[in-house]
Amino acid sequence: MAKKALVTGITGQDGAYLAQLLLDKGYEVHGLARRSSTSEVNLTRLEWLGIENDVHIVDGDLLDLSGLLRTMKEVKPDEVYNLAAQSFVKSSWQQPFLTGQVTALGVTNMLEAVRLEKPDARFYQASSSEMYGLIQEPMQSETTPFYPRSPYAVAKLYGHWLTVNYRESFGLHASSGILFNHESPLRGIEFVTRKVTDAVARIKLGLAKELRLGNIDAKRDWGHSKDYVRAMWMMVQEDVADDFVIATGRTTTVRHMCEIAFNHAGLNIDDHLIIDPALFRPAEVDVLLGNPKKAKDKFGWEPKISLEDMIVEMVEADLKRLKK
Ligand code: NDP
Ligand code: GDP
Repeated sequence: MAKKALVTGITGQDGAYLAQLLLDKGYEVHGLARRSSTSEVNLTRLEWLGIENDVHIVDGDLLDLSGLLRTMKEVKPDEVYNLAAQSFVKSSWQQPFLTGQVTALGVTNMLEAVRLEKPDARFYQASSSEMYGLIQEPMQSETTPFYPRSPYAVAKLYGHWLTVNYRESFGLHASSGILFNHESPLRGIEFVTRKVTDAVARIKLGLAKELRLGNIDAKRDWGHSKDYVRAMWMMVQEDVADDFVIATGRTTTVRHMCEIAFNHAGLNIDDHLIIDPALFRPAEVDVLLGNPKKAKDKFGWEPKISLEDMIVEMVEADLKRLKK
């Protein structure tokens, strides 16, 4: 019998790549998705990967416990991947309450649904390097203290600790993946990498002239979503549930990431980049650099796709999309 997985946030970047990976491994994939007024469910990313007809979409929302309980009872998943969240840091200052409800308390709903209806299911929580915030150690690992710097990061910290707590309180097989930034052509356009590759493609095609950014001195440890969803699956296969940092171990400034994109398109960054003070954040995470040694030692995970290759892939995908 095929294993069953339930993926929340299946319409998002990671949800789409994870669904593809699970289908390739022979899973029956169920995805929780919200209806919208424009279409029943936003299947754009699943369509991009050509798997929209291969997943079972369940209508639901992280805020609706009764629906989650029913879904858990009906689907009876072997593995649950909780990827749904209000995931954009900047919006979390604009919508702090909603971010707390979905990104923090939504995890309570998911863990309760598992505990009450399918306690032997394996659970994955999408935690974030943003929890480190104002960094306490130059390279962040599973033992580095947290100091969240946005309502998003505070909410993620709640979800992380609740996952640890349900593991310790109820013996759930619940793992928390502390993932550093990861991107792809399916990344939301509001995040900096995709904003840059989209703008570079527009400038190249004569559709735009400038790119406005905020703090380009910030440094991030960027990997590819495809590599990172593989890490999610690998950690869930471990006999003992645990917390793992997933990162590349290399950090780069926003400016350098932009240069890779502009250079690939044969453009000069200084002819187009404008620094806009309105795009700076109320509090910034200046640098993130993860140490993925535990994941490598325990289950042999390593990233395969470099930042350069990923940015080139993203620019090319945006050029192709815009030419259409
Ligand atoms: P996306 O923003 O692309 O996807 C978020 C998903 O959550 C979407 O499917 C969205 O649905 C869904 N969602 C939002 N609110 C609700 C709700 N109330 N009920 C049900 N579903 C909801 O994020 P990513 O794929 O990039 O990230 C996946 C997870 O990993 C997120 O939790 C994110 O915070 C976390 N993470 C991501 C990192 C990254 O660099 N990408 C780094 C570390 C952690 P809809 O399409 O309807 O909006
Ligand atoms: P985050 O690390 O989850 O907040 O991912 P983002 O891609 O949103 O931001 C990464 C870094 O880029 C942060 O330090 C931002 O302050 C910085 N940045 C600079 N300009 C921009 C911009 O215009 N948009 C976004 N999203 N980030 C920007």
